[in-house]
Amino acid sequence: MRRANETSIFTEMTELAHRTGAVNLGQGVPDLDSPPELLAGVAEAVLAGRNQYPPAAGHPTLRAAVADHQRRHWGIELDPTAQVLVTTGATEALASAVLALTGPGDEIVAFDPCYDAYPADARLSGATLVPVPLTVDGDGFALDADALRAALTPRTRLLVLNSPHNPTGKLFTPDELTLIAELCVERDLTVLTDEVYEHLVYDGARHVPIATLPGMAERTLTVSSAGKTFSVTGWKVGWISGPAELVTAVASVKQWLTYASGTPYQEAIAAALGTVDTWAAGLRTTLTEGRDLLAAGLTEAGLRPLRADAGYFLQADVRPWGFTEGLALCRRLPELAGVVAIPTSAFQQGVDTMPWLVRFSFCRRHDALREAVTRVTAAFAG
Ligand SMILES: *Cc1c(COP(=O)(O)O)cnc(C)c1O
Repeated sequence: MRRANETSIFTEMTELAHRTGAVNLGQGVPDLDSPPELLAGVAEAVLAGRNQYPPAAGHPTLRAAVADHQRRHWGIELDPTAQVLVTTGATEALASAVLALTGPGDEIVAFDPCYDAYPADARLSGATLVPVPLTVDGDGFALDADALRAALTPRTRLLVLNSPHNPTGKLFTPDELTLIAELCVERDLTVLTDEVYEHLVYDGARHVPIATLPGMAERTLTVSSAGKTFSVTGWKVGWISGPAELVTAVASVKQWLTYASGTPYQEAIAAALGTVDTWAAGLRTTLTEGRDLLAAGLTEAGLRPLRADAGYFLQADVRPWGFTEGLALCRRLPELAGVVAIPTSAFQQGVDTMPWLVRFSFCRRHDALREAVTRVTAAFAG
């Protein structure tokens, strides 16, 4: 496959972090706590011998828990048997949906920069990813409505939305979501929405699933996962929900990818989803404090970080450090300051108008963030 031999920037930066002992704020891998009863639940399920294949569509308790979660949190009504499919992480849900719904000649619209699985999935299916650039507006990112309209063609088959957004930390506003929804209804488009950060929204803001907007329930596939919500990214348990016929199409691909996985994890996550509200409130506090600590440190070191409404990441313009390209800075940052970050250009599919942006992750223990701040201020402040 094309690009199969390319070393990704993530591999390069992770190796650099290991080699230099730098604080790794590159990949979004949390080192935060998980609910103790969730961890105990997996151990219990394993020791009780529940270690064989679950049903291909997922453990019935988890499908029921996902349907219950969607109703309780967002008011979305789902039939757990026909409208919820458990997958091997959000990653498999996204890949299965793209493979099920698109093929050569089709176009997939996604906001740019974007999570790197979307272009990879488009390549697997033979479809073309059409990037719609987000713009920097004041201290945050904004949707360019004209660019979105211009990107939609008769070949557009799928719109991929990711709100809260990785890598920018943007939460799409209600107005932006309304605009996207209206265009999708008008053009009769299917939406694949990646909501893995649904619970990690800060400063009292509220996540709005696009499936709840008028005319959207019947055309939206919603993806989420336990990885980010419970800080268990190594478990790879995710789910996708939506109209029965779309979920059936996704299931027909998913059965030939992994068939099914993670019985004990699925059981334990089903139980934990019932009390996610309490858990997520604590996690939001930890992440908000981590974000603020990192933002203050980067500011002291001379940068002006952009607003992070949600998720794991903070964006900063690194020109004040004398670099016009984030990539060049990131390659030297371990040596200059003992910190690893990822250039936002790595997520850019179209023309990169903001090559000076760098993504720092704050999904780390506060002592690690403090150490990173000490190092960058020593290297760059004053
Ligand atoms: C982490 C992440 C995923 C992957 O989720 P898994 O459940 O680990 O497969 C998908 N989308 C986005 C935007 C992410 O940040």
